[in-house]
Amino acid sequence: MTEEKKVRHILGISGGKDSSALAVYLRDKVSNMEYFFCDTGAELEETYEYLAKLEKYLGKPIIRLNPVKNFDWWLQRNGNFLPSQRMRWCTIQLKLAPLEDFVGDDQAISYVGIRADEDTRKGYQSPRGNIQSIFPFKEDGIDKEGVMKILEHSGLGLPSYYEWRTRSGCYFCFYQRKMEWVGLLERHPDLFEKAKSYEKFDEITGKRFTWMTDESLDELAYPERVLEIKRKHYEQLEKEKALNKNKPLSEVFADSLDAEDDTLPCQICSL
Ligand code: SF4
Repeated sequence: MTEEKKVRHILGISGGKDSSALAVYLRDKVSNMEYFFCDTGAELEETYEYLAKLEKYLGKPIIRLNPVKNFDWWLQRNGNFLPSQRMRWCTIQLKLAPLEDFVGDDQAISYVGIRADEDTRKGYQSPRGNIQSIFPFKEDGIDKEGVMKILEHSGLGLPSYYEWRTRSGCYFCFYQRKMEWVGLLERHPDLFEKAKSYEKFDEITGKRFTWMTDESLDELAYPERVLEIKRKHYEQLEKEKALNKNKPLSEVFADSLDAEDDTLPCQICSL
């Protein structure tokens, strides 16, 4: 008689608010949950600090999944073309491949923190068909406000990077908004310099290989440009504050960043 294989229950923590809130929400509901974090090696220290707090709350380790090869190796493999919204090889190699290895051929139920107020995000569909994604927040009608309440009641609150950036992921992520790059420049100048060192300029062809299409990090870091970005951001922040008098400042800050650029972040890295 063949023994039936157990179905695994997995929850990927991105270091962002939604997946963290989902872990809190399900802590006492799914006892055999395996929590994991795909570590790209380019994460912010604030993310690691938050993961440590979350592990304490969950009473279980969050398994770190490391890619076999790091970002620099894959960059070379991709002809030194920086990843972009159109060529997201970083997500495939640094997040999805380690997840596929972690699950292997097992059957797994993956709990995904997409909220009831989000229509456009679908979660990861494994090509092998052995990972079934489910969406407890959608099923239970939990929206952004509900997520904030879960984190507040648990005592975890938001990750501290929310003071200057609202999306989890690599310090050099090209999904960052201008004000978030300014945040990186001011909070982590060493990481800003590292991100800058990846940008290349071909003097012969005039081609630029930069994280943003419209300006390089060097250009963004000019004091006048930083002032201009900040001025626009604070103007927007004041508008959002006036419109949403009862909203917590962290949410108003997130809304003001969205007003600058509401392109959805990577659906895998920022949940
Ligand atoms: S956080 Fe951004 S840069 Fe890092 S793997 Fe995800 S999409 Fe790529």
